Amino acid sequence: MPQGADGPRRRGHRFAPPESQIGSVLTWYIWPASHGLAVMTLLAELHCHTCHSKDSLMLPGRLIETARRRGLQRLAITDHNVFEGARIAARLDPELIIPGEEIMTTGGELLAYYVQELVPPGLTPERTIEILRRQGAVISVAHPYDALRAGHWREDELRRILPLVDAIEVFNARVASAAHNRRAAELAAAVGKPGTAGSDAHAYFEVGRTAVRLPAFHDAEGLRAALPATEVLGRLSPYWVHLFSRYAAWRKKAGWRPALT
Ligand SMILES: [Zn+2]
Repeated sequence: MPQGADGPRRRGHRFAPPESQIGSVLTWYIWPASHGLAVMTLLAELHCHTCHSKDSLMLPGRLIETARRRGLQRLAITDHNVFEGARIAARLDPELIIPGEEIMTTGGELLAYYVQELVPPGLTPERTIEILRRQGAVISVAHPYDALRAGHWREDELRRILPLVDAIEVFNARVASAAHNRRAAELAAAVGKPGTAGSDAHAYFEVGRTAVRLPAFHDAEGLRAALPATEVLGRLSPYWVHLFSRYAAWRKKAGWRPALT
């Protein structure tokens, strides 16, 4: 993963992916160069919420339209401790959507991809991982060093579960400080785990703000195999994006319900 002074390589909010320039849905490029193999790649957003999370108002259908318009070819729906939004979105666009979940464990939050059914919050990390493994899901540790989140990890608990997960979230656009992402990327490099990244979008304008380019995949096994070649593209969101989540939570308490999902 390319690293600059500010961490992973950054690009503008609006992606101008090569696809749109050459009119092709998928890009072929040489990876790894030393092997001389042509590998099809795609652009994926690996952390995103819908109105089924307590702090987002995004409707699955409009979210899908937004993601497609921005050139994303995979979009992981990782709602907090619920699965309904991912299920609905996957029915609407099964090619685009990776059904996932962001699960609060007693140790911190985990991200899971290609989840089959809801995994309840509040279990130990080990038990949560065991249930996810039975479903064949790909497991990453969500924003491990963002101390301002409820789901951040204690160092000893984090180290204990690392051998059990597939990846670590090395770039989350909503962290309080770029240093939190840098530490996560350093940890992933130190323990030899691939990185995942995402905008952690709770509002439409955040969708695709951070994404990854990686070899094409269609299922959990393919994603697991592709993760070591992940390139992070994106930039941090301003901290005020959290106000949108607070506003969404407030609207819901005041009785807001999606008109259609
Ligand atoms: Zn999240």
